[in-house]
Amino acid sequence: MPSLNYPEPIIELVAELKKLPGVGPRSAERIAVWMIQHRKSNSEELSQALDTSRAMIGLCKCCGFFSTNGECDLCNDHTRETEILCVVEQPTDVLPLERSGAFKGYYHCLGGKLSPLDNTTPEDLNISELLRRVSEDMEIILALSSDVEGEATANYLAEMLEKKNCKVTRIAQGLPAGGGLEHADELTLMRALQGRR
Ligand code: ZN
Repeated sequence: MPSLNYPEPIIELVAELKKLPGVGPRSAERIAVWMIQHRKSNSEELSQALDTSRAMIGLCKCCGFFSTNGECDLCNDHTRETEILCVVEQPTDVLPLERSGAFKGYYHCLGGKLSPLDNTTPEDLNISELLRRVSEDMEIILALSSDVEGEATANYLAEMLEKKNCKVTRIAQGLPAGGGLEHADELTLMRALQGRR
């Protein structure tokens, strides 16, 4: 006799939820059952919030951070230091750096890193816009991950930026390997930024 399980639609919902980052099988099941049981109060709000943010959120045409109207709040903040630019891989890397309080300049999100395995070439990244933004005497901080692809990307960018006579620095090592900036705590990030070279 087959063991008792949830009806098929719930199993499918659980399977979809399990695809979300950080959601394991048990959490997926708990969320799915909760959504079904509280259907009036929130699943509609949830799907609406999802639709709305998908429709409204784009990437800033200047720096690649999240924005709702073409240009992001960071680029529109004219109190920031213009002579310093921090290059990160993903828009999600900006918030932990910002929360560390150690950086007051502008950001540039590449949208990934160079990776021969994934066929990611310089043309796939937001590099031409970066080169357009920089000027002589600017300091460009490369805050990329410490894995092989992050290193390769940093080396490539350093070469391109030095041709533009920029000062290129790298954040100090010590970020969690493979985890990227997203997983680094604020104190680690502050030290990594202060120890740049
Ligand atoms: Zn921006």
